[in-house]
Amino acid sequence: MTLPDPAQLDAADPLREFRSRFFIDDPDLIYLDGNSLGRMPLAACEILHRQAEDGWGSRLVRGWNEGWFDLPARLGAKIASLIGAEPDEVVVADSTSVNLFKLAAAALEFQSGRSQIVSDDLNFPSDLYVLQGLAQTAGRKVVMARSPDGIEPGDVEPLIGGETALLTLSHTAFKSGAIRDMAAISAAARSVGALTLWDLSHSVGAVPVDLSGSGIDLAIGCTYKYLSGGPGAPAFLYVRRDLQERLRNPIAGWFGQARPFAFELKYEPASSLRRFQTGTPPILSLAAIEPGVDLVIEGGMDRIREKSMLLTGFLADLWERDLRPLGVALNSPLDAARRGSHISFGHPDGWRVDRALIEDARVIPDFREPDNIRFGLSPLYTTFTEVDEAVRRFRELLEQRTYEKYPPARAEVT
Ligand SMILES: *Cc1c(COP(=O)(O)O)cnc(C)c1O
Repeated sequence: MTLPDPAQLDAADPLREFRSRFFIDDPDLIYLDGNSLGRMPLAACEILHRQAEDGWGSRLVRGWNEGWFDLPARLGAKIASLIGAEPDEVVVADSTSVNLFKLAAAALEFQSGRSQIVSDDLNFPSDLYVLQGLAQTAGRKVVMARSPDGIEPGDVEPLIGGETALLTLSHTAFKSGAIRDMAAISAAARSVGALTLWDLSHSVGAVPVDLSGSGIDLAIGCTYKYLSGGPGAPAFLYVRRDLQERLRNPIAGWFGQARPFAFELKYEPASSLRRFQTGTPPILSLAAIEPGVDLVIEGGMDRIREKSMLLTGFLADLWERDLRPLGVALNSPLDAARRGSHISFGHPDGWRVDRALIEDARVIPDFREPDNIRFGLSPLYTTFTEVDEAVRRFRELLEQRTYEKYPPARAEVT
C-alpha cells in the first residue's frame, strides 16, 4: 500500500500554524493523549500568571465585580458556539460528573411518573456510577443497551418507552471512539416524552455537535480534553432555554440564588441558567479555559473535523499496512465518519506495550482496560509526521518485543 507523504500532508494542512501556539518543550516526544489532557496553550500560561498577579495579587476581592462573577456564563457562551447552542444555554461549573448528577436528578424530578434511565455500556464508567447512585437515591432503575463488540454501540431505541424518564449517552464513546447518531436517537426519545442528556466530553472541540438542531434537552462536557482547559478544569452544562425555569438544581447554593448577596434565608433560584451553579467558582482554573476555547473557535469546527478525519484515516491506513500484520487489532470503527478523533488499538499485551511506548519509544498514548491503547489526535497540534513516526516506533517495539521487560501490573492512573 502506498500512503501519502506525511510532510506533504502537513504542508497542505490549513491548521498547521496552530501548533506553534501551544507549549511544546520537547519536539521528540509524540503526545497522543490530547483526548485525556489537552496540551497547554501558550496564552493559558500567560493568563494564569496575569490572573495570579493582577487578579488575586492586586485586585483581590474586588475581582468579583471586575469580571469574575460573570466568568462562568461568559465562558459558557463561547462554548455554546461550538456545540450549536445559544449563548445563554451553557454555563461552566463543577466537574462533568457533578454536572451529570445535577442535570439527571433535575430530569428525574421533572419526570416524576417514570421509572427508568436508559443508557449503554459504551458510556463513561463515571457517568454510569453517577446514574447508579442517583437511581438508588431516587428509587429508579438504570436500563442498559449492550454493544455487540465493545466497538459499535448497541441498539438503544428498543429500550426507550413510556417508562423512560431520561435517555443519557456519550456522543463519542471514550474507548472505541464510535459516534452516536444524536439527532435520530433523541427524536425517538422525544416521541415518547423522555428527556435527553448527552455527554459531549469526547466531542467538544473535535466533533461538530448541533444541540439546538438535534432537539437536545440537556448536555454536559469536559473542558480539559480537546478544549485544552487544564488538568481538572471545570466542566460545562447545557439546558435548553425553555426548560431552564422548569428544572430544579438539586444542589442549591448561593451562586445559583436569585440574589446571592442579599443573603436571604430562603433559596430562590436565579431565573437564568446561573441556577445550575452552586458554590464559588474556581477563578484561576476558569480563566485558564478561555485560551483553548478561543483557539478552537479560531480554528473552526469544520476545519477541525476535516483534519481530524484525515488524521485518523492516515493512522488507520498505517495500522493496516504496518501494525495489523504484527497482531494489533483496530478497536475503533473503520469508517472515519463513524468515529471521533482517537483510535483504539487492541493488543493482548496492551498494558506492557503502552508502557514501552511511553518509556522507550517516547510516544504518549493512554491505556483503557482490558487491552485498549488509545491514540488521541488533536487537530490543532498533532501533525501527520508525528502520526507516521509514532507508528514507526510502535512497529519497532513490537518487532523487537521490548515491551516484554515490563511487568503486567497496572499503574494507579493508566
Ligand atoms: C473525561 C470524561 C468525563 C470526566 O468526568 P470528570 O467529572 O471530569 O472526572 C466524563 N464523561 C466522559 C464521557 C468523559 O470522557
